[in-house]
Amino acid sequence: MARLGSWVKPFPEGIYVKPADAWIDPSQPKATALVTHGHADHARGGHDKVFATPETLAIMAVRYGPQNGAPVTYGETIRIGQVDVSFVPAGHVLGSAQIVLEHGGEKIVVSGDYKRRPDPTCASFEPVPCDIFITEATFGLPVFRHPATSGEIDRLLRRLRDNPDRCILVGAYALGKAQRLIMEMRGRGHHDPIYIHGALEKLCALYADHGVPLGELRLATGVPKEEMKGHIVIAPPGQLNDRWSRRLPDPITAMASGWMRVRQRARQQLVEMPLIVSDHADWDELTQTIRELAPREVWITHGREEALKHWCMTRQIKARELNLVGYEDEDD
Ligand SMILES: [Zn+2]
Ligand SMILES: [Zn+2]
Repeated sequence: MARLGSWVKPFPEGIYVKPADAWIDPSQPKATALVTHGHADHARGGHDKVFATPETLAIMAVRYGPQNGAPVTYGETIRIGQVDVSFVPAGHVLGSAQIVLEHGGEKIVVSGDYKRRPDPTCASFEPVPCDIFITEATFGLPVFRHPATSGEIDRLLRRLRDNPDRCILVGAYALGKAQRLIMEMRGRGHHDPIYIHGALEKLCALYADHGVPLGELRLATGVPKEEMKGHIVIAPPGQLNDRWSRRLPDPITAMASGWMRVRQRARQQLVEMPLIVSDHADWDELTQTIRELAPREVWITHGREEALKHWCMTRQIKARELNLVGYEDEDD
């Protein structure tokens, strides 16, 4: 009898599903790609055909131009070659999906990136019991425990109120984190206009088009300093200490990322106000998910694999590292 999951093969450039002749999140152009979500380390341009959720295809179109896309909605099952494939919410960013593969009586779930806590910008992670669970491990160490997001947002809004003559410049990734941050602030009663860097404009518009009500956003470009006093300004992390930020009124520099748990990182990036807000599962979410799904094997794609592998082994769950390359470029 063939080894469990022998029809799915990890390569450095992605996961190959042999009986479908298709690749999951390949980092090289392929004939057929199944894409879990729109982050640049998972979704790349140049494939001949892309299976993804309609939201992910829309994000890819904004970033890479029109795709030869085959939209698959959540819950729909399609047949590719000899594999039944369905896309299930991953709770990571708009349109993010776990890809469920069924073949020869075995079920494999490729989770892409995911988190378990609520996110007002996307559908919640749906647990799918399976034989093999393929998981990320971005925050796969017991020291990584993300605090409640509401507390981080309240801290941010309090600081804003206490500094009416300054603005708070928040660094947030353009896809997912920026929109989630906006929605979390709206949810905590902040309805003032929020200023955004031009690099966020298209993706914010895309979220709004997909039914995520971001409220009033204004482009920060060309706005007089005076007008932005007492307001939130959001920009990609790379612009935080850039020339761009000099046009802002005495900004307090903040950054929203799971890595802000590591003080040294915050200091390196000259962040005055670290906000621990992550779109990835923390240690508890990773282990809780594996417990809940009770897979026979866990395969780990990227991140801090060692500790999670060890945790699985001590619970009699077979675990292996896939050593995929090129992940973790743009999101946390
Ligand atoms: Zn991601
Ligand atoms: Zn990723």
